[in-house]
Amino acid sequence: MALDCAIIGGGPAGLTAGLYTTRGGLENVTMFEKGMPGGQITSSSEIENYPGVTGEITGMDLMMPWPEQCQKFGLVHEMIEVTRVSKDGDMFHIHKADGKIEEAHSVIICTGSSPRRAGFKGEEEFFGKGVSTCATCDGFFYKGKEVVVIGGGDTALEEALYLAKICSKVYLVHRRDTFRSAPNTVERVKKTENIELILNAVPDEVYGDNMGVTGIVVKNNNGETRNIEVPGVFTFVGNDVNNQTLIQEDGTFLCDMNEAGQVIVDISMRTSIEGLYAAGDMRIAAPKQVVSAAGDGAVAALQAISYVDEKLS
Ligand code: FAD
Ligand code: NAP
Repeated sequence: MALDCAIIGGGPAGLTAGLYTTRGGLENVTMFEKGMPGGQITSSSEIENYPGVTGEITGMDLMMPWPEQCQKFGLVHEMIEVTRVSKDGDMFHIHKADGKIEEAHSVIICTGSSPRRAGFKGEEEFFGKGVSTCATCDGFFYKGKEVVVIGGGDTALEEALYLAKICSKVYLVHRRDTFRSAPNTVERVKKTENIELILNAVPDEVYGDNMGVTGIVVKNNNGETRNIEVPGVFTFVGNDVNNQTLIQEDGTFLCDMNEAGQVIVDISMRTSIEGLYAAGDMRIAAPKQVVSAAGDGAVAALQAISYVDEKLS
Protein backbone atom coordinates (compact mmCIF):
# COMPACT_ATOMS: atom_id res chain seq x y z
CA MET A 1 0.00 0.00 0.00
CA ALA A 2 1.25 3.49 -0.83
CA LEU A 3 2.34 5.69 2.08
CA ASP A 4 0.20 8.75 2.81
CA CYS A 5 3.43 10.58 3.54
CA ALA A 6 7.13 9.68 3.37
CA ILE A 7 9.42 11.75 5.58
CA ILE A 8 13.08 11.66 4.56
CA GLY A 9 15.43 12.42 7.47
CA GLY A 10 14.84 12.15 11.21
CA GLY A 11 16.31 15.33 12.70
CA PRO A 12 14.20 18.00 14.46
CA ALA A 13 12.36 18.82 11.19
CA GLY A 14 11.60 15.20 10.25
CA LEU A 15 10.55 14.16 13.74
CA THR A 16 8.22 17.13 14.10
CA ALA A 17 6.76 16.45 10.64
CA GLY A 18 6.23 12.86 11.85
CA LEU A 19 4.47 14.03 15.00
CA TYR A 20 2.13 16.42 13.18
CA THR A 21 1.27 14.17 10.22
CA THR A 22 0.37 11.18 12.40
CA ARG A 23 -1.35 13.16 15.14
CA GLY A 24 -3.15 15.17 12.43
CA GLY A 25 -4.79 12.12 10.93
CA LEU A 26 -2.52 10.63 8.25
CA GLU A 27 -2.47 6.92 8.90
CA ASN A 28 0.36 5.50 6.92
CA VAL A 29 3.47 7.60 7.52
CA THR A 30 7.08 6.35 7.48
CA MET A 31 10.14 8.38 8.44
CA PHE A 32 13.24 7.12 6.64
CA GLU A 33 16.34 7.93 8.72
CA LYS A 34 19.68 6.39 7.86
CA GLY A 35 20.97 6.50 11.44
CA MET A 36 19.54 7.07 14.87
CA PRO A 37 16.83 9.77 14.86
CA GLY A 38 17.80 13.14 16.35
CA GLY A 39 19.86 14.82 13.62
CA GLN A 40 23.03 16.87 13.84
CA ILE A 41 22.15 18.54 17.16
CA THR A 42 22.90 15.22 18.86
CA SER A 43 26.60 16.01 18.29
CA SER A 44 26.30 19.27 20.24
CA SER A 45 27.66 19.40 23.78
CA GLU A 46 25.24 22.09 24.90
CA ILE A 47 22.02 23.70 23.75
CA GLU A 48 20.71 26.70 25.64
CA ASN A 49 18.33 28.32 23.16
CA TYR A 50 15.53 25.78 22.83
CA PRO A 51 12.50 27.49 24.39
CA GLY A 52 11.39 26.14 27.74
CA VAL A 53 14.50 24.05 28.27
CA THR A 54 16.62 25.51 31.05
CA GLY A 55 19.83 24.31 32.62
CA GLU A 56 22.76 22.56 30.98
CA ILE A 57 21.51 20.04 28.46
CA THR A 58 23.29 18.26 25.61
CA GLY A 59 21.81 17.94 22.12
CA MET A 60 21.44 14.21 22.72
CA ASP A 61 19.44 14.83 25.93
CA LEU A 62 17.18 17.26 24.10
CA MET A 63 16.37 14.88 21.25
CA MET A 64 16.06 11.65 23.24
CA PRO A 65 12.25 11.78 23.86
CA TRP A 66 11.25 13.01 20.38
CA PRO A 67 11.05 9.62 18.56
CA GLU A 68 9.03 8.01 21.36
CA GLN A 69 6.52 10.87 21.25
CA CYS A 70 6.04 10.38 17.48
CA GLN A 71 5.78 6.62 17.66
CA LYS A 72 2.95 6.99 20.19
CA PHE A 73 0.85 8.49 17.37
CA GLY A 74 1.82 5.82 14.84
CA LEU A 75 4.92 7.13 13.07
CA VAL A 76 6.98 4.28 11.63
CA HIS A 77 10.76 4.73 11.60
CA GLU A 78 12.66 2.74 9.00
CA MET A 79 16.41 2.92 9.52
CA ILE A 80 17.65 3.09 5.96
CA GLU A 81 19.23 5.59 3.58
CA VAL A 82 17.06 6.98 0.80
CA THR A 83 19.09 7.28 -2.38
CA ARG A 84 16.55 9.14 -4.54
CA VAL A 85 13.05 10.58 -4.53
CA SER A 86 11.32 10.71 -7.92
CA LYS A 87 7.80 11.40 -9.14
CA ASP A 88 5.84 9.38 -11.67
CA GLY A 89 2.40 10.85 -12.46
CA ASP A 90 0.95 11.89 -9.11
CA MET A 91 2.88 9.31 -7.06
CA PHE A 92 6.31 9.70 -5.49
CA HIS A 93 8.83 6.88 -5.56
CA ILE A 94 11.18 6.50 -2.59
CA HIS A 95 14.31 4.65 -3.74
CA LYS A 96 15.98 2.96 -0.80
CA ALA A 97 19.59 1.83 -0.35
CA ASP A 98 18.46 -1.83 -0.30
CA GLY A 99 17.20 -1.43 -3.88
CA LYS A 100 13.51 -1.45 -2.90
CA ILE A 101 11.10 1.31 -3.90
CA GLU A 102 8.16 2.61 -1.85
CA GLU A 103 5.25 4.63 -3.23
CA ALA A 104 3.98 7.73 -1.43
CA HIS A 105 1.24 10.31 -2.03
CA SER A 106 3.32 13.09 -0.42
CA VAL A 107 6.92 13.61 0.67
CA ILE A 108 8.55 15.87 3.25
CA ILE A 109 12.30 16.17 2.69
CA CYS A 110 14.26 16.97 5.87
CA THR A 111 17.74 15.67 5.15
CA GLY A 112 19.47 18.64 6.80
CA SER A 113 23.14 19.36 6.35
CA SER A 114 26.56 17.82 7.07
CA PRO A 115 29.89 19.25 8.32
CA ARG A 116 32.02 20.78 5.56
CA ARG A 117 35.71 20.01 5.07
CA ALA A 118 38.07 23.01 5.46
CA GLY A 119 40.28 21.80 2.62
CA PHE A 120 43.80 21.87 4.10
CA LYS A 121 46.61 19.37 3.50
CA GLY A 122 46.32 16.24 5.66
CA GLU A 123 42.65 16.84 6.57
CA GLU A 124 41.36 13.74 4.73
CA GLU A 125 44.36 11.57 5.60
CA PHE A 126 43.97 12.21 9.32
CA PHE A 127 40.16 12.41 9.46
CA GLY A 128 39.13 10.17 12.37
CA LYS A 129 42.79 9.93 13.45
CA GLY A 130 43.06 13.29 15.17
CA VAL A 131 40.99 15.46 12.84
CA SER A 132 37.36 15.60 13.98
CA THR A 133 34.11 17.53 13.45
CA CYS A 134 32.51 16.47 16.74
CA ALA A 135 33.76 17.67 20.13
CA THR A 136 31.23 15.71 22.18
CA CYS A 137 32.19 12.52 20.34
CA ASP A 138 35.98 12.92 20.41
CA GLY A 139 36.83 15.63 22.98
CA PHE A 140 37.39 13.14 25.78
CA PHE A 141 40.32 11.56 23.88
CA TYR A 142 42.22 14.80 24.49
CA LYS A 143 41.52 15.18 28.22
CA GLY A 144 44.34 17.24 29.75
CA LYS A 145 45.96 17.79 26.34
CA GLU A 146 46.11 20.75 23.92
CA VAL A 147 43.87 20.94 20.84
CA VAL A 148 43.23 23.25 17.90
CA VAL A 149 39.76 24.41 16.81
CA ILE A 150 39.23 25.88 13.32
CA GLY A 151 36.34 28.29 12.54
CA GLY A 152 34.65 31.47 13.72
CA GLY A 153 30.93 30.62 13.77
CA ASP A 154 28.61 29.56 16.60
CA THR A 155 29.65 25.92 16.34
CA ALA A 156 33.42 26.60 16.52
CA LEU A 157 33.15 28.94 19.49
CA GLU A 158 30.65 26.85 21.46
CA GLU A 159 32.68 23.70 20.91
CA ALA A 160 35.91 25.55 21.82
CA LEU A 161 34.26 26.46 25.15
CA TYR A 162 33.27 22.84 25.66
CA LEU A 163 36.77 21.58 24.83
CA ALA A 164 38.35 24.19 27.13
CA LYS A 165 36.68 22.40 30.06
CA ILE A 166 38.29 19.06 29.15
CA CYS A 167 41.58 20.05 27.52
CA SER A 168 44.53 21.90 29.02
CA LYS A 169 44.50 24.48 26.20
CA VAL A 170 42.49 25.30 23.08
CA TYR A 171 43.97 27.26 20.17
CA LEU A 172 41.10 28.84 18.23
CA VAL A 173 42.21 29.53 14.67
CA HIS A 174 39.97 31.85 12.63
CA ARG A 175 40.60 33.35 9.20
CA ARG A 176 39.31 36.83 10.13
CA ASP A 177 39.49 39.06 13.22
CA THR A 178 35.72 39.21 13.76
CA PHE A 179 33.43 36.30 14.46
CA ARG A 180 30.08 35.18 13.06
CA SER A 181 29.13 33.73 16.42
CA ALA A 182 26.63 35.33 18.83
CA PRO A 183 28.24 38.22 20.78
CA ASN A 184 27.72 36.62 24.21
CA THR A 185 29.51 33.48 23.01
CA VAL A 186 32.41 35.59 21.74
CA GLU A 187 32.60 37.28 25.17
CA ARG A 188 32.67 33.91 26.94
CA VAL A 189 35.49 32.72 24.66
CA LYS A 190 37.52 35.88 25.26
CA LYS A 191 37.13 35.47 29.02
CA THR A 192 38.25 31.84 29.00
CA GLU A 193 41.87 31.75 30.13
CA ASN A 194 42.89 28.52 28.40
CA ILE A 195 41.61 29.58 24.94
CA GLU A 196 44.21 31.34 22.79
CA LEU A 197 42.88 33.17 19.76
CA ILE A 198 44.92 32.92 16.56
CA LEU A 199 43.20 35.34 14.20
CA ASN A 200 43.63 36.16 10.50
CA ALA A 201 45.07 32.68 10.07
CA VAL A 202 44.14 29.49 8.26
CA PRO A 203 45.30 25.90 8.61
CA ASP A 204 48.06 25.09 6.17
CA GLU A 205 48.80 21.46 6.98
CA VAL A 206 48.03 18.83 9.56
CA TYR A 207 50.82 16.32 10.04
CA GLY A 208 51.36 13.19 12.08
CA ASP A 209 52.48 9.58 12.08
CA ASN A 210 50.76 6.20 11.90
CA MET A 211 49.30 6.80 15.39
CA GLY A 212 47.52 9.98 14.28
CA VAL A 213 47.92 13.76 14.32
CA THR A 214 50.95 15.25 16.04
CA GLY A 215 50.61 18.87 14.95
CA ILE A 216 49.33 21.57 12.63
CA VAL A 217 50.92 24.43 10.74
CA VAL A 218 48.81 27.60 10.47
CA LYS A 219 49.53 30.51 8.19
CA ASN A 220 48.51 34.15 8.81
CA ASN A 221 47.53 36.82 6.29
CA ASN A 222 51.18 37.94 5.98
CA GLY A 223 52.24 34.44 4.98
CA GLU A 224 53.95 33.79 8.34
CA THR A 225 53.58 30.23 9.62
CA ARG A 226 53.27 28.87 13.15
CA ASN A 227 53.74 25.27 14.16
CA ILE A 228 51.47 24.00 16.96
CA GLU A 229 52.14 20.53 18.34
CA VAL A 230 48.74 19.02 19.24
CA PRO A 231 47.20 15.53 18.97
CA GLY A 232 43.72 16.84 18.05
CA VAL A 233 42.31 19.27 15.46
CA PHE A 234 38.59 20.09 15.41
CA THR A 235 37.16 21.74 12.29
CA PHE A 236 33.84 23.62 12.44
CA VAL A 237 33.72 25.49 9.14
CA GLY A 238 30.03 25.27 8.25
CA ASN A 239 27.75 22.76 6.62
CA ASP A 240 26.68 21.58 3.18
CA VAL A 241 23.04 20.84 2.40
CA ASN A 242 22.21 17.13 1.96
CA ASN A 243 20.30 17.42 -1.31
CA GLN A 244 21.50 14.23 -3.03
CA THR A 245 18.14 12.46 -2.75
CA LEU A 246 16.58 15.08 -5.03
CA ILE A 247 19.03 14.46 -7.90
CA GLN A 248 17.32 12.59 -10.74
CA GLU A 249 18.80 10.06 -13.17
CA ASP A 250 19.45 12.81 -15.73
CA GLY A 251 21.38 14.89 -13.16
CA THR A 252 18.69 17.55 -12.68
CA PHE A 253 16.97 18.23 -9.36
CA LEU A 254 13.38 17.05 -8.79
CA CYS A 255 12.34 20.56 -7.68
CA ASP A 256 13.63 24.12 -7.99
CA MET A 257 16.81 24.83 -6.00
CA ASN A 258 18.94 27.97 -5.47
CA GLU A 259 22.60 28.24 -6.47
CA ALA A 260 23.71 27.06 -3.01
CA GLY A 261 21.80 23.78 -3.50
CA GLN A 262 19.05 24.69 -1.03
CA VAL A 263 15.43 23.79 -1.80
CA ILE A 264 13.28 26.77 -2.80
CA VAL A 265 10.07 26.77 -0.73
CA ASP A 266 7.25 29.22 -0.03
CA ILE A 267 6.23 30.14 3.52
CA SER A 268 4.17 26.93 3.68
CA MET A 269 7.27 24.81 2.88
CA ARG A 270 5.82 23.94 -0.55
CA THR A 271 8.39 23.22 -3.26
CA SER A 272 7.84 23.69 -6.99
CA ILE A 273 6.48 20.09 -7.13
CA GLU A 274 2.95 19.43 -5.90
CA GLY A 275 2.92 17.18 -2.83
CA LEU A 276 6.64 17.69 -2.12
CA TYR A 277 7.65 19.78 0.90
CA ALA A 278 11.06 20.66 2.37
CA ALA A 279 11.77 21.57 5.97
CA GLY A 280 14.70 22.52 8.20
CA ASP A 281 18.32 23.30 7.35
CA MET A 282 17.99 22.26 3.71
CA ARG A 283 15.53 24.96 2.67
CA ILE A 284 16.34 28.47 1.46
CA ALA A 285 16.95 31.11 4.16
CA ALA A 286 16.91 28.51 6.94
CA PRO A 287 17.82 30.07 10.30
CA LYS A 288 19.60 26.75 11.05
CA GLN A 289 18.14 26.33 14.50
CA VAL A 290 16.45 23.37 16.15
CA VAL A 291 13.38 25.45 16.94
CA SER A 292 12.95 26.68 13.36
CA ALA A 293 13.59 23.22 11.88
CA ALA A 294 10.87 21.85 14.18
CA GLY A 295 8.56 24.71 13.17
CA ASP A 296 9.18 24.00 9.48
CA GLY A 297 8.37 20.33 10.06
CA ALA A 298 5.02 21.24 11.60
CA VAL A 299 4.16 23.66 8.76
CA ALA A 300 5.09 21.10 6.09
CA ALA A 301 3.07 18.40 7.85
CA LEU A 302 -0.09 20.54 7.96
CA GLN A 303 0.29 21.18 4.21
CA ALA A 304 0.84 17.48 3.49
CA ILE A 305 -2.30 16.55 5.45
CA SER A 306 -4.47 18.98 3.42
CA TYR A 307 -2.90 17.81 0.16
CA VAL A 308 -3.40 14.09 0.85
CA ASP A 309 -6.94 14.61 2.24
CA GLU A 310 -7.95 16.47 -0.93
CA LYS A 311 -6.21 13.99 -3.23
CA LEU A 312 -7.79 10.91 -1.66
CA SER A 313 -11.29 12.37 -1.14
P1 FAD B 1 19.46 17.58 10.63
O1 FAD B 1 19.52 17.79 12.08
O2 FAD B 1 20.70 17.74 9.82
O3 FAD B 1 18.84 16.12 10.39
C1 FAD B 1 18.81 15.54 9.11
C2 FAD B 1 18.69 14.03 9.27
O4 FAD B 1 18.50 13.45 7.98
C3 FAD B 1 19.93 13.38 9.86
O5 FAD B 1 19.57 12.61 11.00
C4 FAD B 1 20.49 12.50 8.73
O6 FAD B 1 21.06 11.29 9.22
C5 FAD B 1 19.23 12.23 7.90
N1 FAD B 1 19.53 11.97 6.50
C6 FAD B 1 20.29 12.74 5.66
N2 FAD B 1 20.27 12.22 4.42
C7 FAD B 1 19.50 11.09 4.49
C8 FAD B 1 19.12 10.11 3.52
N3 FAD B 1 19.52 10.19 2.25
N4 FAD B 1 18.34 9.08 3.91
C9 FAD B 1 17.92 8.98 5.22
N5 FAD B 1 18.26 9.88 6.17
C10 FAD B 1 19.03 10.92 5.80
N6 FAD B 1 20.78 24.84 16.72
C11 FAD B 1 20.20 25.45 17.77
O7 FAD B 1 19.04 25.85 17.69
N7 FAD B 1 20.88 25.64 18.93
C12 FAD B 1 22.13 25.16 19.13
O8 FAD B 1 22.71 25.34 20.20
C13 FAD B 1 22.74 24.47 18.06
N8 FAD B 1 23.97 23.96 18.22
C14 FAD B 1 24.51 23.22 17.22
C15 FAD B 1 25.75 22.61 17.45
C16 FAD B 1 26.33 21.82 16.48
C17 FAD B 1 27.65 21.12 16.77
C18 FAD B 1 25.69 21.68 15.22
C19 FAD B 1 26.33 20.83 14.14
C20 FAD B 1 24.48 22.31 14.97
C21 FAD B 1 23.87 23.08 15.97
N9 FAD B 1 22.63 23.70 15.79
C22 FAD B 1 22.03 24.35 16.84
C23 FAD B 1 21.93 23.65 14.50
C24 FAD B 1 20.85 22.51 14.49
O9 FAD B 1 21.45 21.28 14.88
C25 FAD B 1 20.23 22.36 13.11
O10 FAD B 1 19.71 23.59 12.69
C26 FAD B 1 19.11 21.33 13.11
O11 FAD B 1 19.55 20.07 13.58
C27 FAD B 1 18.53 21.12 11.70
O12 FAD B 1 17.56 20.13 11.75
P2 FAD B 1 17.11 19.34 10.43
O13 FAD B 1 16.07 18.38 10.91
O14 FAD B 1 16.80 20.27 9.34
O15 FAD B 1 18.39 18.54 9.93
P1 NAP C 1 29.06 29.07 9.90
O1 NAP C 1 28.22 30.03 10.67
O2 NAP C 1 28.91 28.98 8.44
O3 NAP C 1 30.58 29.42 10.27
C1 NAP C 1 31.63 28.75 9.62
C2 NAP C 1 32.93 29.39 10.07
O4 NAP C 1 34.02 28.69 9.48
C3 NAP C 1 33.05 30.85 9.67
O5 NAP C 1 33.63 31.59 10.71
C4 NAP C 1 33.97 30.79 8.45
O6 NAP C 1 34.77 31.93 8.32
C5 NAP C 1 34.84 29.60 8.75
N1 NAP C 1 35.30 28.90 7.55
C6 NAP C 1 34.55 28.50 6.48
N2 NAP C 1 35.30 27.83 5.60
C7 NAP C 1 36.57 27.83 6.10
C8 NAP C 1 37.78 27.28 5.64
N3 NAP C 1 37.87 26.60 4.48
N4 NAP C 1 38.90 27.46 6.38
C9 NAP C 1 38.82 28.14 7.56
N5 NAP C 1 37.69 28.67 8.06
C10 NAP C 1 36.56 28.50 7.33
O7 NAP C 1 28.89 27.55 10.44
P2 NAP C 1 28.51 26.99 11.90
O8 NAP C 1 29.26 27.69 12.96
O9 NAP C 1 28.59 25.51 11.81
O10 NAP C 1 26.97 27.38 12.05
C11 NAP C 1 26.03 26.90 11.04
C12 NAP C 1 24.65 27.44 11.39
O11 NAP C 1 24.18 26.79 12.60
C13 NAP C 1 24.69 28.95 11.65
O12 NAP C 1 23.53 29.52 11.13
C14 NAP C 1 24.71 29.02 13.16
O13 NAP C 1 24.18 30.22 13.66
C15 NAP C 1 23.88 27.79 13.57
N6 NAP C 1 24.26 27.36 14.91
C16 NAP C 1 23.63 27.99 15.93
C17 NAP C 1 24.01 27.71 17.21
C18 NAP C 1 23.28 28.42 18.29
O14 NAP C 1 22.26 29.01 18.04
N7 NAP C 1 23.73 28.42 19.55
C19 NAP C 1 25.06 26.83 17.48
C20 NAP C 1 25.71 26.23 16.40
C21 NAP C 1 25.31 26.52 15.10
P3 NAP C 1 34.12 33.37 7.93
O15 NAP C 1 33.46 33.86 9.19
O16 NAP C 1 35.30 34.16 7.53
O17 NAP C 1 33.18 33.09 6.81
